[in-house]
Amino acid sequence: MIRKIDIHIHPREGDVTMEKYLKIMDKHNVVAGLVHGLESEAYQKGYDANEYVLKAIKAHPDRFYGTVCVNFTKGTEKTLDMIKKFGDAGVIGIKLFPNLGFDPNDDRYEPIWQEVEKRKMLVFSHCGWLAPNTKDPSMRIASAFGASPFHFEVPARRHANINFIFAHFGGGATYLETLVLTSRLKNTFADTCPGWGRWVFENDLAGLKSMVRTQLLYGTDNAGEQYGVDDAWWTDKLMSMGFTYGDLQLYFYENAKKILKIK
Ligand SMILES: [Zn+2]
Repeated sequence: MIRKIDIHIHPREGDVTMEKYLKIMDKHNVVAGLVHGLESEAYQKGYDANEYVLKAIKAHPDRFYGTVCVNFTKGTEKTLDMIKKFGDAGVIGIKLFPNLGFDPNDDRYEPIWQEVEKRKMLVFSHCGWLAPNTKDPSMRIASAFGASPFHFEVPARRHANINFIFAHFGGGATYLETLVLTSRLKNTFADTCPGWGRWVFENDLAGLKSMVRTQLLYGTDNAGEQYGVDDAWWTDKLMSMGFTYGDLQLYFYENAKKILKIK
């Protein structure tokens, strides 16, 4: 089975240091994973995914890398506090849900990008439609507006040293923004995480063959025991699009290795 890095996983309740998940990864040759926080208590009261991320990366520093989820609607100062606190504790990036109601292109967020760049952190954003949070209806999900690659054009142009990763291939309706931005900016990347990330490939949407192969990343939102079938599906799909074995290695492993600075 091909060696893989999963750029898109989350902590799960009942597996605080991700021991159980690591065993599954071992079985399927997933050698490392980037674990993302979630907006605190956005999906479940009392479950602070950002704290869980820290526990996982501390328990297995050579296998798990982490991001902290920050919400720009809480203001630049609060966001900077979170980045400093979690950055000092060892996370290597920030995770965003612009669906909560902010536009990353807005100039007022420039101090955030400066801090991210100074700390050599990466940016990982949810992109596309997001189901409303039924467990906490008070949690505002404005719309998919903001959650697409073009809403990162300003910081991505200004900060060539920050790597921007668009989850779910940049979203279903907005996947073309991914193709355009990644073709022009070397510091932009996309993962193929389900649903939209897989959906655009399942439907063989126009333009996908032109995706820059050094900027495409394998991400699953916790494939778990499905890693095996998932691996086979993507291998077949990408080879049908003309990927060579070397291209597959870039996608499953090498591109992420570079981004995570794994030696
Ligand atoms: Zn996710």
